Amino acid sequence: MDFEIASETEELLERYRGFMESELAPLEADAVSLPFSALEGRLDARRGRAKEAGLWGPNLSAELGGLGLGLVDHGLVSEVLGGYLYGHYVMGCQAPDAGNVEVLATHASQDQREKYLRPLAAGEIRSCFSMTEADYAGSNPVLMGTTAVRDGDEYVIDGSKWYTSSADGAAFAIVMAVTDPDAPPHRRASMLLVPTDTPGFEIVRNIAVMGRAGDGWASHAEVRYAGCRVPVGNRLGAEGEGFAIAQERLGPGRIHHCMRWLGVARRAFELMCRRATTRFLGPDETLADKDIVRAWIAECAAEMRAARLLTLHTAWRIERDGWRAARQDISAIKFLVAGMMGKVLDRALQVYGSLGMCDDTPIAWFYLEERAARIYDGPDEVHKISLAKRILRDYR
Ligand SMILES: Cc1cc2nc3c(=O)[nH]c(=O)nc-3n(C[C@H](O)[C@H](O)[C@H](O)COP(=O)(O)OP(=O)(O)OC[C@H]3O[C@@H](n4cnc5c(N)ncnc54)[C@H](O)[C@@H]3O)c2cc1C
Repeated sequence: MDFEIASETEELLERYRGFMESELAPLEADAVSLPFSALEGRLDARRGRAKEAGLWGPNLSAELGGLGLGLVDHGLVSEVLGGYLYGHYVMGCQAPDAGNVEVLATHASQDQREKYLRPLAAGEIRSCFSMTEADYAGSNPVLMGTTAVRDGDEYVIDGSKWYTSSADGAAFAIVMAVTDPDAPPHRRASMLLVPTDTPGFEIVRNIAVMGRAGDGWASHAEVRYAGCRVPVGNRLGAEGEGFAIAQERLGPGRIHHCMRWLGVARRAFELMCRRATTRFLGPDETLADKDIVRAWIAECAAEMRAARLLTLHTAWRIERDGWRAARQDISAIKFLVAGMMGKVLDRALQVYGSLGMCDDTPIAWFYLEERAARIYDGPDEVHKISLAKRILRDYR
């Protein structure tokens, strides 16, 4: 333990661990090999049992049917869930829905809350977030070709997005589109709620990511918006506030990812240690007797602990001072934790050798799924530049 955790939180963590072990661990062999659609029924049954057990929605407010945990406690829960495939999905705190819930909770009108927020928080529907476009550098989100042109009481949306995660089977998309091309760059776009049964909404394909196109929640789609009409009342916030709201979404969204990655790294680390001590190289010698493996284990342990403390400290700062005040810390953990997780996964895979490359352990699955951590929600380089800029301000 790195610091004292309240006994109620510890007890809650134990309940999450127990649920994950009894409900998700037995599903793991299927989860690494089957598409989401083949697992969905079993995962949904577990969602129901999570609700019955009072564990649903650790991040959701009590009003939305969740536990209303603060960010530090949610971080600790998230670390537990991260070690299990579909852990966050089963507890209703998975991306991109968790971020969309936060946006809706802050910016939705009463009508939008009833129609979109409540069923989303209850896990009755899913959503997606449609911002990145293939033709523009996603690292600079003000560059965007998708437009929403006002026509009476409606917006008409035209454009093409890609990597809209979980669009397949989602009930609605939150779409970023340019509503005023002549406004200053950060005032050009607005966020619009687009039901996926709107004429003109088309999933072109689920993009094959490292060989897996996936389906349902576990997919990333190319989406075309061809003359999609939505009422003006489907806009979130005021016209031109799209980027401001996106920033609000991305800040907490980044720390949610980091908290999950801590759990992924811990799981890989535990597997690595187990394998190192049981894989014999000779009659009296295991991998764990080799200095190079010991060095990896020591380095991973130290890096995991540093990443964990910095992430929890950032969560604490966000709770105390708000996410704006903690922006430097968020940038730091985004690349630090993603890099740490990548290193731990890579070393764990190496220790497992050929077994690590195949799907008989969850390591390869995590390795493939989580490589993108260093790219989405701001690539490493963007966060490093932004952190360094703020630090250097004091020296100029
Ligand atoms: C698995 C996955 C899921 C995603 N889910 C979603 C989603 O649900 N919704 C959505 O809208 N988008 C999503 N994205 C898109 C993601 O947000 C973008 O990939 C990201 O913003 C980077 O944009 P880009 O891919 O266009 O890279 P580019 O902007 O083309 O950048 C390419 C590379 O250039 C380097 N680089 C970029 N900027 C700088 C700089 N200023 N200085 C130095 N180097 C730089 C970085 O190494 C970067 O990786 C997802 C992406 C992935 C991979």
